[in-house]
Amino acid sequence: MSNKYPFVEDTLSKKLQAGTGLSVDCLTCRRKATLEIAELVKRLGPDRGCLHWDLIKVIYCHQCRAAGRDDLTLQFTNHALTPEERSRRKPCP
Ligand SMILES: [Zn+2]
Repeated sequence: MSNKYPFVEDTLSKKLQAGTGLSVDCLTCRRKATLEIAELVKRLGPDRGCLHWDLIKVIYCHQCRAAGRDDLTLQFTNHALTPEERSRRKPCP
């Protein structure tokens, strides 16, 4: 059994290490935003879970909340890096 893949990125720090991205779609107003994992780690701490039910507690659609609409109809999408992006991210030896 390998623990390399599939890799469960269930906390923000794991996600930061893996270098994968996360975006969120608001199903109410159709707004799409890309989340900065490094920013979330700073704001929420590295051990904060990054699964849907963790994020839905801390992230909401600002526009919909301001407008009094349902601001929690969010859909989170994980973005894996392409092998090309992954090799570009490797630190120089
Ligand atoms: Zn919205």
